[in-house]
Amino acid sequence: MYRTNNCGELRLNDINKEVTLSGWIQKVRKLGGMTFVDLRDRYGITQLVFNEETNAELSEEAQKLGREFVIKIKGTVAERSNKNPELPTGDIEIAVRNLEILSKSEVPPFTIENETDGGEEIRLKYRYLDLRRPVVQKGLILRHKTAQEIRNFLSNKGFLEIETPFLIKSTPEGARDFVVPSRMSEGKFYALPQSPQVFKQLLMIGGYDKYFQITKCFRDEDFRADRQPEFTQIDCEMSFVEREDILSVFEEMTKHLFKTVKNIDFKEAFPRIKYDDAIENYGSDKPDIRFEMKIHNISEIVKNKGFKIFNDAEYIGAICAEGLANYSRKQLDKLVDFVKRPQIGAKGLVYVKYNEDGTFKSSVDKFYSQDDLKTWADKLSAKPGDLLLVMSGNKKETLTQLGELRLEMGERSGLRDKNKFAPLWIIDFPLFEKDEETGQLHAMHHPFTSPKTEDTELLETNPDAIKADAYDLVINGNEIGGGSVRIHTVEMQEKMFKHLGFTKEEAEEQFGFLMNAFKYGAPPHGGIAFGFDRWVALFNGSDSIRDVMAFPKNNAGRDLMIDAPSEIDKLQLDDLHLKIVKK
Ligand code: ASP
Repeated sequence: MYRTNNCGELRLNDINKEVTLSGWIQKVRKLGGMTFVDLRDRYGITQLVFNEETNAELSEEAQKLGREFVIKIKGTVAERSNKNPELPTGDIEIAVRNLEILSKSEVPPFTIENETDGGEEIRLKYRYLDLRRPVVQKGLILRHKTAQEIRNFLSNKGFLEIETPFLIKSTPEGARDFVVPSRMSEGKFYALPQSPQVFKQLLMIGGYDKYFQITKCFRDEDFRADRQPEFTQIDCEMSFVEREDILSVFEEMTKHLFKTVKNIDFKEAFPRIKYDDAIENYGSDKPDIRFEMKIHNISEIVKNKGFKIFNDAEYIGAICAEGLANYSRKQLDKLVDFVKRPQIGAKGLVYVKYNEDGTFKSSVDKFYSQDDLKTWADKLSAKPGDLLLVMSGNKKETLTQLGELRLEMGERSGLRDKNKFAPLWIIDFPLFEKDEETGQLHAMHHPFTSPKTEDTELLETNPDAIKADAYDLVINGNEIGGGSVRIHTVEMQEKMFKHLGFTKEEAEEQFGFLMNAFKYGAPPHGGIAFGFDRWVALFNGSDSIRDVMAFPKNNAGRDLMIDAPSEIDKLQLDDLHLKIVKK
């Protein structure tokens, strides 16, 4: 037998028990005639003690043990004279009688501790060692718990967990597909699902009523911070529902997860913000509403004072950073650099300091009097001591830039507390997005999203203005989930494809099976999918979803441990009827 107990469970009331433990060696230290060994497993750390006086031979063997050796010991639980209040097992130790090395270890390339000396690349290369670190284990345990609670909740509500295939044909979530060449059908390819979207709709047509699945999705997107080519969604769909039915179930699920996983109670209904209002007030469709600092449109009050940049601008907006009027020249210059970074791309930034003595100091004092600046301050309800930050230009871009600046100022002011959570729904998204260059319409969510009933007529006259029956769940500035009420008639689906620039043949070729299914009695339906990795990362207080995935890829989409992607041999290529053409 390898163990009677794990390394995290023995306590004072186990004193004098004879136990067998197995685990990894965290560290070995010698103090006089005593050798202490920390033995670690997923459950914790237990101190082992070897006494030179009682067993010199065993004690010598213990001194030869190295970090990460796997051992099995037999011994007696004893009270520690030198207790460690930091450890749950810190009151006891095991006086070892018998030691067996189960497997040796080379010196690991980084320390297996929460605060490790290993950089990310090396930890990904030796992920199996990284996985031993308690912080990593904590993240994966939390992931398990969250998944279980999702299953509990949804099963209790009558949802069925049904798997859908990975080897399919393109699904339209707007990214590039990963493709898999087919051996049996020469020159043909499967695509890996970007999401189970069409399958879950077909399950509704198949009469399953309520479906969910915690499943992998694959999207071949260009490098973007914290994206993974494969990630996990909680994918859900329901029949005979309107938006309200869907939001109500999934708001309840969200509350259930907060309660059971984080012990946080949300009594109130989540706020709902219309897409247009979110953009106007926060410069983002995934606003972080842990703090206010809303964007104000000051276009009307700043024009016609001789300041050309403002006079020429389509839009001028401002935020008020409370209590930051004491920002130095240098700090302000840094802020200007911040908004000019290519990721944000602003041309500049105007500041107005509302000094404690009630006077104003701004970067546009040449054009604006103290009274003018007071009007701005009043518009933003600023107080003496506050700092106003103003940006101008094209409306859409300026709002986005102000949104980024708002997040940065929130961060600097400590308003983005990781332990505070602010969920909300964004509703009434536009149905279409227009490609600025070609004028072509794209589906903002995906082509199966239904327009809001009251907007259907606009499809012929003013498609730009149509709102979709689509919604996102946003928490702390992250889009955690998104979904929609779906189109369920052939007529509407055909119109939609037409607006999206599909010819009848293209629509038939790609989605004929779905349109056909609509001809055989499709129930009104709708659903949502949540980014499971992001959600767990948020619960875990992690900035990166890699922290809560067992075997993540690096930012360039490579698995550094197994070294993938990699070349395949000639025979495999031949089987697949493929030839590599070097660039
Ligand atoms: N399939 C959608 C997505 O992956 C979610 C949905 O509409 O349910 O974003």
